[in-house]
Amino acid sequence: MNTLSHGLSWVDLQFRGRPQVIATGLVQGHGGVAIIDPGPTSCLETLELGLQANGIRWPDVRHILLTHIHLDHAGAAGTIVREHPHINVLVHERGLKHMADPTKLIESATRIYRDRMDELWGEFAPVPKRNLVSLTGGERIEAGGRTFDVAYTPGHASHHVSFFDGSSGVAFVGDTAGVCINGGFVLPPTPPPDIDVEAWGQSVDRILAWSPATLFLTHFGPVTTVRPHLASLLDNLKTTSGIALELLNGPGTDEERGSAFAERLRRVLRTQMTEAEVATYVVAAAYEYLFSGLARYWRKKGVAT
Ligand SMILES: [Zn+2]
Repeated sequence: MNTLSHGLSWVDLQFRGRPQVIATGLVQGHGGVAIIDPGPTSCLETLELGLQANGIRWPDVRHILLTHIHLDHAGAAGTIVREHPHINVLVHERGLKHMADPTKLIESATRIYRDRMDELWGEFAPVPKRNLVSLTGGERIEAGGRTFDVAYTPGHASHHVSFFDGSSGVAFVGDTAGVCINGGFVLPPTPPPDIDVEAWGQSVDRILAWSPATLFLTHFGPVTTVRPHLASLLDNLKTTSGIALELLNGPGTDEERGSAFAERLRRVLRTQMTEAEVATYVVAAAYEYLFSGLARYWRKKGVAT
């Protein structure tokens, strides 16, 4: 069992049969159970095995907390609620309408993943409006028998929130603290459409203001070196966004730039970790896709064409 603290644990969803790609947080207390980022429907069986291993049955689960609505974090929420309609789903107000009607979300994901949508993610079912609870950040919520502070943490996604449990010092930060496997490179995940480098920096400050003892990353797991980790994240965001800008101001098509970006990133990663670890990073964050998000950011700012 993967225990973070008393009543706090997590499940490795074994996404695409690989360990250490997607982690789901579990909160157990007298007030029932809360699941933080249930992952995609394609991993639902693994999540259920994880619940069983922790002695949790679906009737115990009262809340699903979503850090954001990307498929790898929120995909299974609607499928779960259809089977267990007593569960409420908490999500930032900007993501709420897409959980109620995921048509647009599925359309834009299909443009990227095409005929691999189902194999990768499985179903993305709507969550009925009556099961949705809107968050703005700044509130305190009760879930899993404890109190969480909610902070609005955009940068990776414009509707991203993070959850802090003051009693254990654990902050569930979704993708705001990057991707980090086995203490390796802290990779800023920068997919389209709403990367915002400045907002990301402010979100890191908001997380630091909690003085958390542990950051819990969806990709992947607990990190206790909080300050150096977040400093590396911002350093690396500066580096990757800088590489993207340099490529945008040079010759070539976006496809060529995306490949060049991926190659440079792979070179950086290879100096720091094994080939197997580099491959796990690719599953968590396709590199060409990280370029598109940064390209969109720079173009919105008007500093690249
Ligand atoms: Zn994400």
